[in-house]
Amino acid sequence: MGYEDNVRKVVPYTPGEQPGGRVIKLNTNECPYPPSPRVQEAIRSLDTDALRKYPDPLCSELVSEIAGYYGLKDENVFTGVGSDDVLSMCFLTFFNGRDPVLFPNITYSFYDVWASVYGIPFRRVPLREDFSLDPSLYRQKNGGIVIANPNAPTGIAADLKVIEDIVSSNPGVMVIVDEAYIDFGGETALPLLDAHENLLIVRTLSKSRALAGMRIGYAFGQEKAIKYLNDVKFSVNSYTMNTPSLLAGKAAIEDDRYFREIRDKVISTREWVKKELRELKFSFGDSCTNFIFASHEGTHPGETEAGFAKRIFASLKERGIYVRYFDKPLIDGYLRISIGTDEEMREFMRVLKEIM
Ligand code: PMP
Repeated sequence: MGYEDNVRKVVPYTPGEQPGGRVIKLNTNECPYPPSPRVQEAIRSLDTDALRKYPDPLCSELVSEIAGYYGLKDENVFTGVGSDDVLSMCFLTFFNGRDPVLFPNITYSFYDVWASVYGIPFRRVPLREDFSLDPSLYRQKNGGIVIANPNAPTGIAADLKVIEDIVSSNPGVMVIVDEAYIDFGGETALPLLDAHENLLIVRTLSKSRALAGMRIGYAFGQEKAIKYLNDVKFSVNSYTMNTPSLLAGKAAIEDDRYFREIRDKVISTREWVKKELRELKFSFGDSCTNFIFASHEGTHPGETEAGFAKRIFASLKERGIYVRYFDKPLIDGYLRISIGTDEEMREFMRVLKEIM
């Protein structure tokens, strides 16, 4: 009997590798382009004397910039240290009941980790065979719902009416829609916000605005929900976002032209890669994200989908190309390939053809 009886034991989330050196990194859905030049200016002009002081605990300037951009009021926006922090605060704030929180059986693998660390009961709801969302399965008793739309790692988007069905058939619980990848495709749930107090939408600057290293996420909700979130945040850590992040985030939102330019480049590269992968007989759903989740029936005699995926993952890595492989039931036959620059994707395709 030692102190360990009193330890909160958890199985942590495993983030993708961050290898050093010259590699082609297609494993964590980062943006292959640098952030807006305005972000660079904002960081360069940072007066380090300002770091003496605590940052604005309300993140007011960043919140106002985001609210203005989306035509919302400041009271509708919450910010945090990446959308992981925002989602974690959402779990802590809104999932305080006895019934299980529901999320799809294939989705962002952090949801069950937050549920476990906070002691929240949860249930995985099956996706259809084609990985699409069946809203009728979300009519069971529950303590809250989390839906990533577009979903990760599948890359598939649900129609707005599917999301609306889930939100309106569950007025007694909070429905969190994680829109980390929405800038690359799919329909945002934003138009539902006015009519549904039980909806919270979570976003990030990590993917489409190329700021994964800055850790900036945000949420939209009705004023009351945002107030509840802030009450919990101010009960854990008032100063979540640091001074450079607040400046960089504001600058990134301001530069809308640059955002559209890099987003469009990623989308057009993705469509080209889809065509190439189809020619190589890969199977995948219609990705609306900055990655493609693809399987292949195998190219060696007797090779299974999982055998193929595992082998290609390892061979790519040996050649300095990192993609993501999840050795888990239901998805162990797939590779998740983030979209890089055209040049990186040409090299990826060249090597892939060689090792298949
Ligand atoms: N949600 C989903 C669905 C994701 O894939 C990710 C990226 N791992 C996140 C949230 C978190 O992103 P970040 O914390 O960088 O905003």
